[in-house]
Amino acid sequence: MESFDYIVIGGGSGGIASANRAGMRGAKVLLIEGSDIGGTCVNVGCVPKKVMWSASEMRSMMLKQAKEYGFDVTLEDVDFSRLVANRQTYIERLHGLYMKGLASNGVTVIHGFAKFTAEKTVEVGGESYTAKHILIATGGKIIRPNIPGSEYGIDSNGFFELTEMPKSVAVVGAGYIAVEIAGVLNGLGSDTHLAFRKESFLREFDDLVISGLTESYEKQGIHLHAHSVPQKVEQTDSGYELFFENGQSLKVDEIIWAIGRVPNLDQLGLENTQVKLTDKKAIKVDDYQNTTQTGIYAVGDVIDKINLTPVAIAAGRRLSERLFNGQTTARLDYETVPTVVFSHPTIGTVGLTEKEAREMYPGEKITIYTSTFTPMQYAITEIREKCHMKLVCLGDDEKVIGLHGLGLGVDEMLQGFAVAIKMGATKADFDNTVAIHPTGAEEFVTMR
Ligand code: FAD
Ligand code: NDP
Repeated sequence: MESFDYIVIGGGSGGIASANRAGMRGAKVLLIEGSDIGGTCVNVGCVPKKVMWSASEMRSMMLKQAKEYGFDVTLEDVDFSRLVANRQTYIERLHGLYMKGLASNGVTVIHGFAKFTAEKTVEVGGESYTAKHILIATGGKIIRPNIPGSEYGIDSNGFFELTEMPKSVAVVGAGYIAVEIAGVLNGLGSDTHLAFRKESFLREFDDLVISGLTESYEKQGIHLHAHSVPQKVEQTDSGYELFFENGQSLKVDEIIWAIGRVPNLDQLGLENTQVKLTDKKAIKVDDYQNTTQTGIYAVGDVIDKINLTPVAIAAGRRLSERLFNGQTTARLDYETVPTVVFSHPTIGTVGLTEKEAREMYPGEKITIYTSTFTPMQYAITEIREKCHMKLVCLGDDEKVIGLHGLGLGVDEMLQGFAVAIKMGATKADFDNTVAIHPTGAEEFVTMR
């Protein structure tokens, strides 16, 4: 049985990052990937999504702004299959780059699904491998509702397999994926419905950005269906009819389920280890990514903490620094993680929402600053899509504990502000920073 210093199960965001860092530090590393290298983010997540988001933004810009800016643009229908083919070529290129990076760090990569057969042993395709340290980075998997007909339609993986754009679509769900896919398809010209169970989508976000995006999506023509719990799906001649518990139904060409993801523990053989799960069936870890079995660790979506690529990467790298570079206290701080929803326009958020702040600091002074304005890019167009911003501040020194934005360019504004907030910036620090004019970002440092 071949022996390694470190076996990494899962070649996605967290696994690749941790394997590379361990290899860089001189460890003998084996990375096992059952499917395409790069995992969810590269193949069916962030990367193809961002390409589709960009296409959708471009079409909207040509359709709604180009003319007023003096461009005589005649817009043909999007050549969807060409867009998809170019996107996939880019992803193929990324596969090559990942493999090259792993090779340059001396990481051995094998293709196949790994299963624990003992505490320190995994089996892949009949071969067994052992290591002192083993990382589980097997990510998450999509769920569908438990209702008649939920096998019809597609999910986010299926969305990335589409080579033709559906003329009409119902996206079911209320999270990042539902909101992003609905925005993309609507922007590309599909008649788009977004159906969610409760009063709004993205309920964990700040009220200001939820109401702002609701208004924007309605103005863009997305049909929003609140309080719509899916009940069953039936096939029709041209597609599907989706029935809701409230008695309403929708007839569409395609249904896209986006009701969430759960940790992927399929056939991992955890019963042959002492690794325990949380109540939510995620792998239980401590602050250092240690599972309940010594020498076995977990990072990324499989621990279901903050399911974002940079989080999986950061946790994976810090773990390798701890195990193979003597950085005994290296660990990821899961507080104040910035995140962007690639809606149209985008949402950027870091820290606490106003509601969370009031709940977390009862009786303490919470000061809220907001700004709503029309970005200058729209000044000479018919568009009046607003940008909304909010700062949530704590105490007399007004430490900024939450920053929320919705609007043009917010996605690219957020990273720098997240640095300031992570460092403990106060409202006075924001005010003392001279604005950059004319930008949208300057509003964050000029709020009264
Ligand atoms: P993954 O990247 O899922 O990798 C897990 C890998 O393990 C997979 O390749 C799988 O094949 C492999 N595997 C599973 N079981 C085994 C086994 N037994 N043996 C061997 N291999 C196995 N995050 C962002 O930060 N920004 C975004 O814009 C963004 N957009 C997203 C859009 C969509 C549609 C989706 C679905 C997700 C998006 N995410 C985004 C989330 C992000 O993709 C995940 O948080 C991230 O990929 C998690 O990384 P991971 O390493 O935990 O798992
Ligand atoms: P989420 O967990 O974000 O959202 C799913 C939502 O669907 C739930 O919150 C719930 O909202 C609703 N829902 C749950 N069950 C049902 C049901 N039976 N019927 C109808 N609606 C239901 O999952 P996603 O799949 O959207 O995304 C998974 C994760 O991937 C995200 O949380 C995020 O961490 C990551 N991601 C990040 C992106 C980014 O960084 N831009 C983009 C895409 C994904 P409610 O309770 O309100 O009904």
